[in-house]
Amino acid sequence: MYSYIKCKRLNVVSLMPCGPCHILHGVRVQVLWPQFSRNKFLGEGLELSARSRLSTQLRLTKIYAKVVTIPIELEEATEPPINLFKPKEPYTATIKSNQKIVGPKAPGETCHIVIDHGGNVPYWEGQSYGVIPPGENPKKPGMPNTVRLYSIASTRYGDDFDGKTASLCVRRAVYYDPETGKEDPAKKGICSNFLCDSKPGDKVLITGPSGKVMLLPEDDQKACHIMVATGTGIAPYRGYLRRMFMENVPTFKFEGLAWLFLGVANTDSLLYNEEFISYQKQYPKNFRYDIALSREQLNKKGGKMYVQDKIEEYSEEIFKLLDGGAHIYFCGLKGMMPGIQDTLKRVAEERGESWDQKLLKLKKNKQWHVEVY
Ligand code: FAD
Repeated sequence: MYSYIKCKRLNVVSLMPCGPCHILHGVRVQVLWPQFSRNKFLGEGLELSARSRLSTQLRLTKIYAKVVTIPIELEEATEPPINLFKPKEPYTATIKSNQKIVGPKAPGETCHIVIDHGGNVPYWEGQSYGVIPPGENPKKPGMPNTVRLYSIASTRYGDDFDGKTASLCVRRAVYYDPETGKEDPAKKGICSNFLCDSKPGDKVLITGPSGKVMLLPEDDQKACHIMVATGTGIAPYRGYLRRMFMENVPTFKFEGLAWLFLGVANTDSLLYNEEFISYQKQYPKNFRYDIALSREQLNKKGGKMYVQDKIEEYSEEIFKLLDGGAHIYFCGLKGMMPGIQDTLKRVAEERGESWDQKLLKLKKNKQWHVEVY
């Protein structure tokens, strides 16, 4: 089994399987560098005696690893990079891989797309890239297509830990004629279809990175982060969670609580589920994961289970955490917010609180982070 080790100044490393796809199989091994001296080199890799928390399914005894040195400068910047590339002068990046990440019963298609930016378009967790799809703008003949934004789903190191890639989680936008119910390919989304159809080696024009509202506040490493996502809104949280639980960088040692609420249609639509389950197993005190499957689960009133129903279920705890300074994030389709806001308002009123005042306070304290589209 081939895996990657990421190492930081030859000090602490963590290791994970990569295999043919990006999905983790629940293995995380941490080894202090001095222990390497006891291990033999095997060809291009190292033989490690994996000593902790190996997935029982894999029953690994030996792990062959490639060493990737983390580009240290990515930790040193004090400000996030912003708009290094603008629409008039975009960066030409290359598609490294493209993988459909939902099962056959998922309504719609979502892809995990890794883009190689060669280290030239660095970003921080929670930022977005712009993508300019090829071709003419249908609304302005003769003009290029406009930029579409996509939240970045990897940490600043990328899925390969070399600081040269960014991953996007893209849902293919299709159009169904409301009268016939049939798909109309002439009206399909331009950029999402370009990205979901892309192949390794294809060129892609990117802009950015952009956005500050979803940056992960790192000043308090014991903080609580409540993350609410619908569908591809999971993207920034995948980056946060990899930074918190998968990577091991000296400047960010997460000891707080990360609580993820993910709403999708059904089990086949779950995104990055294996990664999250593995964090849940390894860090039960630091990571909570709740899912709402609207087409498979019912809420307590017998209706479809949406993410706000899960929030309501845990509202007492959530309100306490918010009172204690927790950050709350919302990312995904615009349509998610009214239902969530109504639920939060109702819960606040049941507790004898004014939601409007509470919301003002959360915003003033920079605890409230929303990126919906
Ligand atoms: P467009 O070509 O822009 O079309 C938009 C919609 O209109 C499509 O649904 C299309 O089917 C429909 N349409 C086209 N022509 C017609 C017509 N004639 N009549 C009626 N309808 C028509 N998306 C993600 O998948 N993942 C992300 O992580 C993500 N992050 C985002 C982050 C931010 C900050 C923002 C603002 C948006 C984000 N988006 C994300 C959404 C993304 O930017 C695009 O809006 C989305 O992919 C659709 O773009 P498109 O070019 O495919 O569709």
